[in-house]
Formats: sequence, C-alpha cells, structure tokens
Amino acid sequence: MPDARNGAMQKAEHEMVVCNACRYCEAYCPVFQAMEQRVTFTPGDLTYLANLCHNCGECLYACQYAPPHEFNIDVPRTLSMLRVESYETVAWPSFAGIAFRRPWAATSLALVVSVVLVSGAARPLSGAAQTFQVRNANFYSVIPHHVMVIIFGVVGLFTVAAIAIGHRRFTRLADPKGPRRSGDGSRYGGSVPHGRAVRDVLSLKHLHATGEDCVDGEEQRRPWRRWLHHCTFYGFALCFASTTVAAFYHLVFGWIAPYAYTSVPVVLGTAGGVGLLVGPAGLLALDRRRDPDLTDASERSLGGAFLAMLLLTSVTGLVLLVLRERPYMPTLLVIHLVVVLAFFITVPYGKFVHGIYRSAALLKFRRECV
Ligand code: SF4
Ligand code: SF4
Repeated sequence: MPDARNGAMQKAEHEMVVCNACRYCEAYCPVFQAMEQRVTFTPGDLTYLANLCHNCGECLYACQYAPPHEFNIDVPRTLSMLRVESYETVAWPSFAGIAFRRPWAATSLALVVSVVLVSGAARPLSGAAQTFQVRNANFYSVIPHHVMVIIFGVVGLFTVAAIAIGHRRFTRLADPKGPRRSGDGSRYGGSVPHGRAVRDVLSLKHLHATGEDCVDGEEQRRPWRRWLHHCTFYGFALCFASTTVAAFYHLVFGWIAPYAYTSVPVVLGTAGGVGLLVGPAGLLALDRRRDPDLTDASERSLGGAFLAMLLLTSVTGLVLLVLRERPYMPTLLVIHLVVVLAFFITVPYGKFVHGIYRSAALLKFRRECV
C-alpha cells in the first residue's frame, strides 16, 4: 500500500488517535485493545485494525463524538472503507483488484466466462442415449470426468495461488515484522498461539468480545448474525468435504458417481447445501435491515454479490440433487457447474477474502495482546 495517506487512511488515523485518547470503547472488541498498544498508526497498523473489526457497530452507537458531532467519528464505517481498500491493494494480479470496487460486474463477467467454458465442454445428448444416461444420473455423460477435472483444476489452482499471494501481501503489509524468530518464538512472549487464534476463528468468539452477541441499531443483542455466519462457514466447509470425499472415492477406489443419497459425499453435500441456503439467505435478509451508517457501500455490494453466489450455488446444487434422474438433469447440471465455476473465479476477488485476512488479523492479535 502506498505510504501516502489517502482519504480513508487519513480518517482512520484521525479516529484512532481520538479513540486512543478517549478509550471509552476499550472493552468492546479486540480493535480497541490492539489500538491501545500503539501511539502512532502506520498504514500497516490501520490495515490490521480494519481487518480485526467485524463491523458490529457497537462503538458507533456508544460514541459521543459520532455524527453530527464535529469530530465525525464513525469507526465501523471508516474501517469498512479501509478493509475494502486493503483487499484491493493486496489482490493478485494487481489489476484484478478493481473487482473489489465492482463486485456485480465482476460476478457477471465470471458467469459469462463460465457459461462459455461449461457449455463448450458439455456433450449434446439426444434420444435413447439421453434417456438412459439421465435415468442413471450419469453426470459424466454430459461432461466427461477428465474435462471437468481440467476446467475446475485449472481454475482451482489459480484461485489457490491468488489467495496465497494475497495473504502473503496482506501479512507483509499488516504485520511486517511478524513473530520474533529468536528466544521464546514470539515478539510478545510465549509461543505463537495458533490454537487460540484458530478457536477464535472457528467459534466466532469476537462476535462479540464479551461472549454475547452483536448489538444492533436498537441496542439489542440477538444471536442471528453469529449463527448465520456459522451456517455459511460450516456449510461451505461441508460442501468442500463432500467434493474431497467424492474425488477420493473416484481416484482411490474407482467408485464412480452418482452416489446413493445415504452415501458420505451426498450426506455431507446435502448438509452443506442446506447451511449455504440458510446462512446466506439469512445474512442477506439481515443486511437489508442493517443500519447503512455502519458499513461502506462498497463493502455492502461485495457482501451482497458473494452471498448471492453462495445462495445460487446451494439452490442449483440441491435442485440438481433432487431432480438428478429427471429428463432435465443435463440442463440442471450445466447451470450448477456454471454457477460453481463462476463462484470459484470470483473467490479471490470477493468477500471470501474477509475470512482469510480476518483470521490473519486474529492471529496477530493473539500474539500481541493475550
Ligand atoms: S468510538 Fe467514540 S466513544 Fe468509542 S473510544 Fe472512540 S471516540 Fe471514544
Ligand atoms: S464496529 Fe464493533 S468490531 Fe468494529 S471497532 Fe467497533 S466495536 Fe469493534
């Protein structure tokens, strides 16, 4: 990230200086504890703090300097702006960072590319062959297995590379010194607490730091944001596990899909699909009711496009599963694969990266503060 302070960076620096003097919100979340470790704020510090914030909004509702006060302190929104800026800055390849500013256009483009690739790979089936293949839910009669592997393998490898390089760039920016290599293994004392950071990530402990749930505009604490995040995260993880088990069956045992409704890949995929239905649908509904002062418009669009793609993936997958022995199976399969491929193309340039960078920020927080 260039060292020159841009608008969002300047505003974040100003707000952190004011908050550091005030400290009224210090018990709310890790952002304030991490802030108190600093006297001045570099672009790397501010990037770290922005990705540590989970945009609950509590510090806005508590702030005596919030608009219309002349200090104009709106920490959730400023850090939201800075988060998107950090996603854009560390994106690889760099020119693709523009996708974070135009998530719907990027998603549409990915869908067009996917339509071209998947429909080009699909075999036209007709007459008796189609009836026979469809009755046996034979997906590979529509797109041969090796063609699927090539298309999804190439896109998958690119996605993993883009995320890994983005993560490396992020940690260099937000944590340039990293853990100390000598002595006890940590800059801050004790061993590097990966286990505690992993627990924070998997349990969403800091949603909210008190162990209670996020406060909303009416200052009520409701559990929905936490639970819907869990549905989305674990739904995705189960779908990934389903695909991995299916690949293992195919490559190691030579067991060719389709698998029975009671088989491990189908049970995992169904449970994951339901999680990806409930989580994204609920989060989209919550976002519509959320206070617009909490989140920058670019981050709201980013979240909307990501959740819409997750929802489309789960709906098309579940419909395909239920109707896989019906005559329209080939069309349903092509639609589902188009959506899944487009989703994976957009993964490094969408809200998915929030999970990666927030996890890195939580690890840094554990090293620093606890
Ligand atoms: S958000 Fe407002 S009340 Fe909270 S620490 Fe900052 S200045 Fe103080
Ligand atoms: S919005 Fe919530 S998580 Fe972000 S700084 Fe404020 S209290 Fe912390």
